[in-house]
Amino acid sequence: MAQQYPEWIWQNGEIKPWKDATAHVMSHALHYGSSVFEGIRSYATPEGAAIFRLTDHLKRLYLSAKIYDMVLPYSQDEMANACREIVRKNGYSAAYLRPVAYRGLGGFGLSAETPIDVAVATWPMGPYLGPEALEVGITACVSSWQRFAPNTIPAGAKAGGNYLSGQLIAREARRLGFGEGIALAASGLLSEGAGENLFLVFDGVLHTTPASASILAGITRDTLKVLAREDGIEVVERDIPREYLYLADEILMCGTAAEITPIREVDGKQIGSGKAGRVTRRLQELYFGLFNGKTQDKWGWLEPV
Ligand code: PMP
Repeated sequence: MAQQYPEWIWQNGEIKPWKDATAHVMSHALHYGSSVFEGIRSYATPEGAAIFRLTDHLKRLYLSAKIYDMVLPYSQDEMANACREIVRKNGYSAAYLRPVAYRGLGGFGLSAETPIDVAVATWPMGPYLGPEALEVGITACVSSWQRFAPNTIPAGAKAGGNYLSGQLIAREARRLGFGEGIALAASGLLSEGAGENLFLVFDGVLHTTPASASILAGITRDTLKVLAREDGIEVVERDIPREYLYLADEILMCGTAAEITPIREVDGKQIGSGKAGRVTRRLQELYFGLFNGKTQDKWGWLEPV
């Protein structure tokens, strides 16, 4: 996917031209994966540009940092302002935001107390898994790479190093001609997509994998649980064996970037009718309704830019 770069990036309290927002090659994070980050979207809503669940995303950023003893030199409110400011400065309304905090220069041991540098980038982003993905769905395969085992690398932190696992899963899937890869946990039970959570539909009930299945508990996953229950759709969190992928009436992947992407085929086997099913379409309607004004935002999830 071609990357569109923004004119401006916020870094360590300053808004800088894109070319000046750099990190040194000796930065700790570059060598050891010691960064934590978020992926957030802003949408052009009838009420103006709004960042979706900014507060919840930043809360997760600070919790990810806590796991790695990284103390950000800015408060969560200051980071929220930086996010708003950089979207405005670049003149965007619908965009992707990437706050990142990383161990910079100033020590090279694994336990070095380096300074924590912080940046917020933003860029325009369309549907992450391709333009037709939201409509017709994608194909997926079960990856030959499993997720990290419990008590190895914490899956619940959104840390840079975790995405080596995601890269193996996504690159293998694309190499084999699939739209995305699905990973199993070390237990052999279903975990999540390379960068997305999973929901399976059986008899109108949504099933999603639990936090103990080495997933990142996504904010989109949480949003869908809330929207579904409001709409009278039952949601259960449970261990899911691999073969249930092939038995499901519908499967969807969800995440900030992927939004709600139907999966029409897994490992060459058609899922349900082979197109977006009734529950998936209803969830898409409710989710995108938040941004076009058709779903009332009762939760204060749309935070004005
Ligand atoms: N799992 C992984 C591994 C991810 O990278 C993401 C994207 N951040 C998700 C799940 C979905 O999380 P969210 O809905 O908060 O974007």
